[in-house]
Amino acid sequence: MNAPAAAAHAALAPAGLQLAGDFPILSRTVHGKRLVYLDNGATTQKPDAVIEAERNFYRDSNANIHRGVHWLSQHATDLYEDARKTVQRFINADKADEIVFTRGTTEAINLVAQSWGRTTLQPGDEILVTTLEHHSNIVPWQLLCEQTGAVLKVAPISDAGELELEAFEALLGPRTRLVAITHVSNALGTVNPVARLVEQAHAAGAIVLVDGAQAVAHQAVDVQALGCDFYAFSGHKLYGPTGIGALYGRFELLQAMPPWHGGGDMIRTVSFERSTYADAPQRFEAGTPNIAGVVGLAAAIDYVSGVGMANIAAYEHALLGHATAALQTVPGLRLIGTAADKAAILSFVIDGIHPHDLGTILDAEGVAIRAGHHCAMPLMTRFGIPGTARASLGIYNDEADIAALVAAIDKAQYMFGTRQTR
Ligand code: PMP
Repeated sequence: MNAPAAAAHAALAPAGLQLAGDFPILSRTVHGKRLVYLDNGATTQKPDAVIEAERNFYRDSNANIHRGVHWLSQHATDLYEDARKTVQRFINADKADEIVFTRGTTEAINLVAQSWGRTTLQPGDEILVTTLEHHSNIVPWQLLCEQTGAVLKVAPISDAGELELEAFEALLGPRTRLVAITHVSNALGTVNPVARLVEQAHAAGAIVLVDGAQAVAHQAVDVQALGCDFYAFSGHKLYGPTGIGALYGRFELLQAMPPWHGGGDMIRTVSFERSTYADAPQRFEAGTPNIAGVVGLAAAIDYVSGVGMANIAAYEHALLGHATAALQTVPGLRLIGTAADKAAILSFVIDGIHPHDLGTILDAEGVAIRAGHHCAMPLMTRFGIPGTARASLGIYNDEADIAALVAAIDKAQYMFGTRQTR
């Protein structure tokens, strides 16, 4: 930990951000134990503000959007379109029309693959990803390669889990049309130097999609400063509802892309001979969307913005430093992913205990972690392991949660006989 981080740790970590009281689920017990929720990379818990926003939408404002002449429909439409502006401000997009609501990160990436990709790529064109990617940022491109004859290239990473920058640059060539990179690795926590990678990709004539699923909840995101062409994220990893997320796309790109789903709301005119399509972003939002989810997402953004993204980043960095130091005291534990720039994710393996067994024993202690390949099988292959145990931290976690994690690991080692003294 560097000096400023250590100072922030001393100031912040013991007290925490004092937000647990906003999250009703955190007061429940699991197997008779206090719930220690350390699976925020999979999904985050929801504050009352989000739960209430969805409930109030159905109680007070529910109607279909964009098509009603009545007051309630107009009201629901206003809430929906205001939420688009909330997302725009949150990631500093230039226009609200650059925000497409999707079911989440996965759908956002598939949208780009099937709309931009299918109409743009030629056989032999290249898509460059990295070893760090989640399956959601691999498989849509593989499907696209099968459909177009494009070729998937993969930039390697170091043993610390950092992208090898020279190798990345060397893989950029005249055939590279798209670079698809994660902002933060869900399995290792590595933060990629996105602005620099975007610059290099653009210099090579490629556009860039950033998978921001693990980034938006942990640090301020500014798509204009990053310079990326697309940015995808999910509401449920940002203390918002499941089933809602967003795709940011540069407006010229979105406006030039064909629709990918057909149906109501995405058209201008329809006849049996020919249909014409609405402008972006409506062109990409066929059918009745997840209106309540959009309202809940805006409430989540308001909530984290109220806490302050800079405060969240500083606090989580401090807690990560504390947790890293605590796990390093556990005999036989090896951290997988030790990048210099890391988000609050700790992946590890322990001698003599399979990650799934560890996860089960920790669960009995009320400690919820993730065990497995984390939807990043090629990354696990890179490290020669089937999976890891992963503790991923959120804004309501504190040092007591880390102590509970370490104590539960200690118990597991004792049960497995891999540690004799307690
Ligand atoms: N990318 C990353 C880095 C992720 O962590 C996840 C979720 N684990 C996804 C993509 C997919 O997100 P969703 O399931 O919300 O579409």
